[in-house]
Amino acid sequence: MHKQKIAIVTGGGSGIGLAIAEKFIREDIHTIIVGRDAGKLGAAAEKLGALCQAITFDLNNFAEIPALVSRIIDQHGKIDILVNNAGINMKKAFTEVTDGDFQSILQTNVTAVFVLSREVVKSMLQNGVKGSIINISSMASRYGIPKVIAYTAAKSAIEGMTRAMATELSPEGIRINCIAPGFIATDMSAKALDSDPERKAKALGRTPMGALGQPSDIGDAAAFLASDAAKYITGVVLPVDGGNAIGF
Ligand code: NAD
Repeated sequence: MHKQKIAIVTGGGSGIGLAIAEKFIREDIHTIIVGRDAGKLGAAAEKLGALCQAITFDLNNFAEIPALVSRIIDQHGKIDILVNNAGINMKKAFTEVTDGDFQSILQTNVTAVFVLSREVVKSMLQNGVKGSIINISSMASRYGIPKVIAYTAAKSAIEGMTRAMATELSPEGIRINCIAPGFIATDMSAKALDSDPERKAKALGRTPMGALGQPSDIGDAAAFLASDAAKYITGVVLPVDGGNAIGF
């Protein structure tokens, strides 16, 4: 088995995913960024250098996910780390959310995470890899936020799935953990907060550290959870939020 670790980071072309990929590469991990936007991914891969590989792929295309994972295994022989970071948000009044809106958030934020994790776990079991899977949830699963019903349902599901996967897979040496980012400065949060100064003031007002987090703060936490330094940690949801989850 080759010594170099192989990681997949979904949504690795921007925001938090890009910061996680950047940190992994600094730690000498071969990092495959998977996302929908070829332009964004290409620019990220160029910035990240030779240890980064970009694969343009829409994770809603469930039927093709097994082939995607096989392709990566054919090329690299194993996958050590999976970060399920890709996600979409939708801010809409409860009664205006259509069936299709709800399904589409659940599809990307939950079902795609399940399908990709299942395929990667199969490969870890087949190759005897003591792997690490990191899911990304949100403050929306810690407390109630109005106008994000589907996103909240999805992120709450992620935390439950983290625990269920951890109990089943940890005996096989595969650790499953989750990071719950607080309010982190990315395009996604800018869209949600810059259009709503009241919400931004509220988010910052209950964050004891008094500022938005940086994507690299999540990158650092992901690198820790993926590393041997976290070898006895599984099934946790780690808030990385400047204290937002316990803020008054
Ligand atoms: P972002 O919009 O910059 O990144 C999301 C990435 O996911 C994008 O690169 C996008 O192309 C990719 N993606 C979305 N749907 C996809 C699909 N079907 N197939 C492939 N790729 C897809 O947002 P971000 O802020 O970096 O968010 C990353 C993760 O962190 C998300 O899961 C988000 O819910 C979570 N999160 C963010 C914050 C925050 O404050 N920014 C807070 C809590 C949780």
